[in-house]
Amino acid sequence: MKRVGVIGGGQLAWMMAPAAARLEIALIIQTPNATDPAVSIANETVLAPVADVAATAELAQRSDVITFENEFVDLPGLKQLEAQGVRFYPALSALQPLLDKWDQRSFLQHIGVPTPRFGAVQGDLTSEQLNAFGLPAVLKARRLGYDGQGTIVLKHLTDLPPIGSARTAEHWLLEEFVPFDCELAMMAARSINGEMVTYPVVETQQVNQVCQRVLVTAEVEPAVVEQMESIARLILAQLNYVGVMGIECFLTDDRQVLVNELAPRTHNSGHYSLDACVTSQFEQQLRAVCGLPLGSPALIHAGAVMVNLLGYEAATCDYAAQRHQLSQLPNAHLYWYGKTAARPGRKLGHVTVQIHLFKSTSENQQVRIKS
Ligand code: ADP
Repeated sequence: MKRVGVIGGGQLAWMMAPAAARLEIALIIQTPNATDPAVSIANETVLAPVADVAATAELAQRSDVITFENEFVDLPGLKQLEAQGVRFYPALSALQPLLDKWDQRSFLQHIGVPTPRFGAVQGDLTSEQLNAFGLPAVLKARRLGYDGQGTIVLKHLTDLPPIGSARTAEHWLLEEFVPFDCELAMMAARSINGEMVTYPVVETQQVNQVCQRVLVTAEVEPAVVEQMESIARLILAQLNYVGVMGIECFLTDDRQVLVNELAPRTHNSGHYSLDACVTSQFEQQLRAVCGLPLGSPALIHAGAVMVNLLGYEAATCDYAAQRHQLSQLPNAHLYWYGKTAARPGRKLGHVTVQIHLFKSTSENQQVRIKS
């Protein structure tokens, strides 16, 4: 039995469990809390923060290969383990340009992938600097941001965050506000021997910078899909990447794809694949890092809609009644991550509704049923 160590024990690791069982893979999970979602499905756990390198050394003792469900790691510390022979997929050299938003943008620019125009914050961000860059602009924490935390939209010079060390250059990326037509995402995967697959292009819909729902597939013209696919293939090949990656993009009015962010792991925008694709993103990640042939990313339904179940209050409620109602929806698949505390905006679960096609016997037309 192959043993895969996973750094991070949130819902992304939790959703690996069914595929791991099918592929006869043991999951050893490094995560800080015994109540984290993936502890319940782990074959073994190392209870420690994700950036605890000594704990990862222990994880390595118990694993054949280590992969990531969370990239908030101590990369220099992990490099020492890699130098001692610990195998990480993706390799740390592939993660290196991705963990800091400034580095990520610079890497994309270097390989010729279009991104929003961006700039460095020099010293303390001043209104003069902001004025010179142009408004509206978006200020982003270079590290450790997620679900819009650490992203500030600046429409007026007075929107500057409070003065303090958190406003200095090492912390922030400044970029143009993109008045996009819509936001698109794509999962892509690459194996150890360089085989690549790309999943369908999906539309993601955000409110206050947090993804609310994902529409599969995005209603975009083939030229846009081609742009996304070639961008994905270029990025994975350039990084010599092994594993699954989420690629989040803006589509502009003039139909240009701009890459907003790369997630070096499975991603929320790919959850639909559990119920709508031949091979889910979670199985694909395990296949890639274990050296197995990649599976087909093809859709098995006409499409799907994935809705995130986000906390709307601070509570310890398990929302059993609401969950029951959701699970009764036709063609719906409910995932509840088992988190013990709800917070506004926190991802507590998701539901995917499959869209089926059938042929009308009278008119022989294809009809899309939206549940
Ligand atoms: P995070 O890493 O926290 O997910 P993102 O960079 O993905 O942050 O931003 C979250 C959301 O904020 C995006 O999905 C988008 O809706 C909005 N956003 C981010 N950057 C821009 C931008 N430059 N222009 C317009 N909207 C943006």
